[in-house]
Amino acid sequence: MSVTASAHPRRSTELDDGTEVWNWAGNAVLGRSSAVVSPGTEEELRAAVTSTTGRVRLVGSRMSAGRMLQLSAEGDRLVDTSRLRGLLASGPDSATFAGGTALQEVYDVLAATGRALPSSPGVIASQTLAGALATGTHGQGLRQSSVADAVLSVRTVLADGSVAEFDRGHPAFPAVQLGLGVLGAVSAVTLRTVANTVYTCRKDVAGAGDLGALLTRWNRDNALSKAWWFPGEDVVHVWNAQEADTAAALAHRAGGGRLVEHPGTSDAVNRAVDAALSTMRGDTRISDAQGKPYRTVNRFKDFSDVTGDVYQVFCRGIATPQINVEVAVPLDRVDHVVAVLREWHARTNPHMHYPIILRCTGPSTAWLSPAHGRETCYFGFVVYYAEDGTLSAGGMDFLRSVEEVLAAEGARPHWGKYFDEALYDWPALYPRWDDFRGVREELDPQHRFANAFTDRLLG
Ligand SMILES: Cc1cc2nc3c(=O)[nH]c(=O)nc-3n(C[C@H](O)[C@H](O)[C@H](O)COP(=O)(O)OP(=O)(O)OC[C@H]3O[C@@H](n4cnc5c(N)ncnc54)[C@H](O)[C@@H]3O)c2cc1C
Repeated sequence: MSVTASAHPRRSTELDDGTEVWNWAGNAVLGRSSAVVSPGTEEELRAAVTSTTGRVRLVGSRMSAGRMLQLSAEGDRLVDTSRLRGLLASGPDSATFAGGTALQEVYDVLAATGRALPSSPGVIASQTLAGALATGTHGQGLRQSSVADAVLSVRTVLADGSVAEFDRGHPAFPAVQLGLGVLGAVSAVTLRTVANTVYTCRKDVAGAGDLGALLTRWNRDNALSKAWWFPGEDVVHVWNAQEADTAAALAHRAGGGRLVEHPGTSDAVNRAVDAALSTMRGDTRISDAQGKPYRTVNRFKDFSDVTGDVYQVFCRGIATPQINVEVAVPLDRVDHVVAVLREWHARTNPHMHYPIILRCTGPSTAWLSPAHGRETCYFGFVVYYAEDGTLSAGGMDFLRSVEEVLAAEGARPHWGKYFDEALYDWPALYPRWDDFRGVREELDPQHRFANAFTDRLLG
């Protein structure tokens, strides 16, 4: 099986003349600018859906791969949700936000009142709430799952213009929770909130000889855990977070609630980081030594423990244009999958400029979540673009090869990232696949919220 031509597209570096809309990475045209409407209220969102007979595709921060967002025909409409934002209502342990609210705004609003979501954040927070739900966006930690699993109810404008509220008791809720943008236009989301806990996150390094067992143990023993594996040197940089003790929590509060750093050093990953940086320099040809891609790897030399809330500790990524592939395997197979990857690495010596990102989550109730029904370990792979918008041939070979290896192990890919559709047998991967399709037929029988990708996917 071969990767589709568009699986790892080149990035455009041409000046944008404003006639077309691109995704965030700049590697896919989504449609003509004249096809975009930007409703500011739910009523305007309804009008955006009902005032056309063409198809409608919703867009948030456009951080997904182009295929999730692209219009498929002239006359179709791109609905930009960026004006549908802000807190709509709040209670003691819940909060309702407009669907287009950026996650950063959700986190800031909640943290200001001592609250947080019960799901830990991803590495960045510029995604919209509805965009994050639609693709199964997740962070790390076995005691929680994706952002969609923090949802109590979803308010949606359906294809016929009616507005429906799906709460946890609704039979279609596990479909709407992670809807791929094909079930309707999400206008508002009510989320469960919990007290905003302060964590101390310890940074450490370990040999990767027993990585499968280590991953399971780190994730069982800690509230939140995230690791980066340099398979060439077989070394792992790990962050393990526990609720802060009283003294650390008081120090955090005394510092005005800002992140507290406890300086620490180790040179145990320096060789691995320097090797990755050298490959990255060759691939990206970025001359500024402080360029964003370099900083994302250089930070693995930093072993300063930190104390802060979950957003301060984990949501500190540096967003830089990239192809990111992420696939999920059941946690109880992680030992085996690590062994398969180790064998693959030794056999192929792949061209990598970033370590493998390892995050585990608890089971998700969403039917199409890669973590549906099981504790899950996500393996993430990143290749950054060169300044001229190209990807190194070695980097693309590496992504193609590793995805093939993991797809053969039954891995489920992240919906918002890059994957080769030809590698996956969706109904075999997802036991509730047909139930999802059934909900779709009920809510959008004419497939008005579809595009070419979802047509291929769902029929
Ligand atoms: C640099 C970078 C870092 C990332 N880090 C992480 C991470 O740490 N963890 C993780 O899990 N993922 C991560 N992702 C993936 C990212 O979270 C997803 O691509 C997410 O969908 C992006 O949200 P968005 O607002 O940009 O959505 P978009 O890409 O704009 O849209 C995604 C999907 O949501 C649908 N949609 C958008 N708005 C609505 C609406 N109002 N109603 C119905 N459907 C809607 C769209 O039609 C589309 O199908 C990362 C991506 C990048 C580029």
